[in-house]
Amino acid sequence: MTGAARVVVVGGGQAGLAAGYYLRRAGLDFVVLDAQTEPGGAWLHGWDSLRLFSPARHSSLPGWPMPPFPGPGYPTAEHVVEYLTAYEKRYELPIRRSETVTAVSRDGDRFQVSTDTGNWFAEAVISATGTWWRPFLPFMPGGFTGRQLHTVDYRGPEEFAGQDVVVVGGGNSGAQIAADLAGSANLTWATRRPPRYLPDHIDGKALFDVATHRRQALQTGQPDTAGVAGLGDIVAVPPVREARDAGLLRPREMFARLDGDGPVWTDGTRRHADAVIWCTGFRPALGHLAPLRLRTTRGRIFTEGTRAVAEPGLHVLGYGDWTGPASATLIGVGMTSRAAVADITAYLDAG
Ligand code: FAD
Repeated sequence: MTGAARVVVVGGGQAGLAAGYYLRRAGLDFVVLDAQTEPGGAWLHGWDSLRLFSPARHSSLPGWPMPPFPGPGYPTAEHVVEYLTAYEKRYELPIRRSETVTAVSRDGDRFQVSTDTGNWFAEAVISATGTWWRPFLPFMPGGFTGRQLHTVDYRGPEEFAGQDVVVVGGGNSGAQIAADLAGSANLTWATRRPPRYLPDHIDGKALFDVATHRRQALQTGQPDTAGVAGLGDIVAVPPVREARDAGLLRPREMFARLDGDGPVWTDGTRRHADAVIWCTGFRPALGHLAPLRLRTTRGRIFTEGTRAVAEPGLHVLGYGDWTGPASATLIGVGMTSRAAVADITAYLDAG
């Protein structure tokens, strides 16, 4: 398909929808291009027991609150997908699915957005492609004959029952997957530093407030509060809390290498492993921006707010705390989207 719009949004996950909401309100002509066949972004993936770390009322996109979750505990990924599906219908967002953006480049004073089915032309582009699609694996010396997976490959504990499993990583994914496996596998949980649990009462809403407070402090020249990172790394969601309190989550330091059938630590201790699950994070999926040849540092382009410094018509949205407080979360991305669309509106008006 070939077409033109004033603004093209790349990615139709929660960040792309929040951007769409404000673009619609601003009366701008736009289209959202999404690689997947269905709504839901990264929430279509993930493991079976994955839950939000906040109640529904603190997990809403702009305009329309997430309906209450009918079951016990915090909402499931399925509930989020239903909400995102209904959200894009409600606001009649112009989303084109099964359209993967392969390149964003310059075509005179507009952008050319190339997809696997054609080209779009736009005055401004919002990149909202998330991180799930770019799993990060650290270098580890040695070799391993067992199975290696990343967070993105993990579905549930059933296939690991009775096996020796090493989970690597002291963040939320590592803690949640370790807790998921603790009852049925022989678990080793390896972390680079001792796990830092956030206080039990902290949920997604509190994290958003902390991140916002940090942003405000930095903007007004006050000392850096260190934000969420100053409090800890792991949200103590109920399954993690229960496994921790039952003594099932016993971390040990990171191993030094893999040696045939398992990890080996610096003191020479070894452990047999059937599988190693790398819960070692993600990077922003920005490969489609490469033709713009923007300078990068640690996989990120230079930005002011969400705007690319070298390309004022280009915005990046939803990649963690990078361009807005908690903007990878449902509750956080609204505020950042509003600012991005306000900036784009001013840019288009000036042009
Ligand atoms: P995504 O959901 O990844 O959406 C991006 C979309 O862009 C996808 O549909 C993708 O297919 C598409 N895309 C990618 N590349 C291209 C391309 N080149 N062309 C076209 N389309 C493309 N958040 C919360 O708010 N609450 C929580 O409790 C919570 N818990 C989490 C727990 C875990 C373990 C993890 C890993 C994340 C959690 N998050 C939570 C974070 C949040 O859900 C995700 O980071 C969120 O999905 C990010 O939304 P997004 O729209 O930026 O990206």
